Amino acid sequence: MIAASPQTSRGFRRVMRCDLDCFFAAVEILDHPALAGKPVVVGGDPDRRGVVSTANYTARQYGVHSAMSAAVARRLCPHAVFLRPRFERYRELSARVMAILDDYFITRERVSIDEAYGELPPGLPGCRRALDIAREIKARVQQETGLVISIGVAGNKSLSKLASDCSKPDGCLIIKPGEELAFLHPLPVGRLLGVGPHTRERLERLGLTTIGQLAQASLPDLQAHFGKQGHWLWQLANAEDNRPVVSEHGPPKSISREQTYERDIADIERAAAQIQRLAERVAADASDEQVLGQTVHIKVKWSDFHQITRQCALPRATNAPEDIAQAALRLLHTTIAPLLNASNDSNASAAIRLLGVGLSNITDPRHAQDKGYLRNLRTPHSIVQLLLFPDLPEAYPSASDDPNLPSASANN
Ligand SMILES: [Mg+2]
Repeated sequence: MIAASPQTSRGFRRVMRCDLDCFFAAVEILDHPALAGKPVVVGGDPDRRGVVSTANYTARQYGVHSAMSAAVARRLCPHAVFLRPRFERYRELSARVMAILDDYFITRERVSIDEAYGELPPGLPGCRRALDIAREIKARVQQETGLVISIGVAGNKSLSKLASDCSKPDGCLIIKPGEELAFLHPLPVGRLLGVGPHTRERLERLGLTTIGQLAQASLPDLQAHFGKQGHWLWQLANAEDNRPVVSEHGPPKSISREQTYERDIADIERAAAQIQRLAERVAADASDEQVLGQTVHIKVKWSDFHQITRQCALPRATNAPEDIAQAALRLLHTTIAPLLNASNDSNASAAIRLLGVGLSNITDPRHAQDKGYLRNLRTPHSIVQLLLFPDLPEAYPSASDDPNLPSASANN
């Protein structure tokens, strides 16, 4: 078996992935000790098409999981305690955990409110063992915040993520150099990064049910079936992933939110309500990050899994919710509504399975104060301009079915 981590005189790479267990639910139990031992579900209103953000392990025993409709969760577990999220409190605790991680990482990449990758100093003779670092981090997070964090360490990002996922709950799993393929290959293909239920089914139809079978598959065949994604999956299956851990000191490249729906959406009014809600969350994220964006995109995945994105440029960079929502709604009405109507007319079964809203072409006004960006903060009239000036750039199609597009992450 070939070692996947290059061992050079500069040592071997050690990537750590840290992920808080059932974060939102854990914070609620921490702040309300009477909830201990009870099934706890944090998310939207079960009476109003709400969706589960996080369920604790007690609730998961009843089949409740994140991204499920809260109404279904209540049917599965009627005695669960349903709570609305308190994002401000979650952000406060997340910041404390990230500050602990900064004491150990050369570079930290925050993936979401409860997850981060860290580049540890390279593994060299006499260096501090990854296992000891991981144990110390787990103990400090527990003592200083009361939360439980799971940790995986391996020679690259995707392996360290798998290691931390496999170690949950309250886990700690170190994959040593040379052990990568022995760990990876028996796992089902669905565990591989970027393999959702649809791709998993397609791989299984080709007879590839384990990651080991995928690693041994013919690369040209995979590329013929899956395009660029085929090459990427084959690399991951062979424990090859050179992506760097990137610190978030620069502004994010894009900010997006998306939602998969329990029941497909077939009417434009319901789609518009969801787009409005997603746009407001994107605006809140941009506001939290203190950045502005000048391109708005929407993403639609149809019930047959075909995916399209449409985007438009705004007159100026913004993070105002009304600007982002109006641009996203305009895209929906001009580019998606005709497709939805056409499919309804022809009695086709196409309906919307997933909607997403994103903001890109990001600028960070903190780094550009002398360029006058600050004046563009909160531009309540920009949508009026958008509607009054029809010569603004039209929506145009862009890449579809891109495996690299950001996807919703569950808070596990
Ligand atoms: Mg988590």
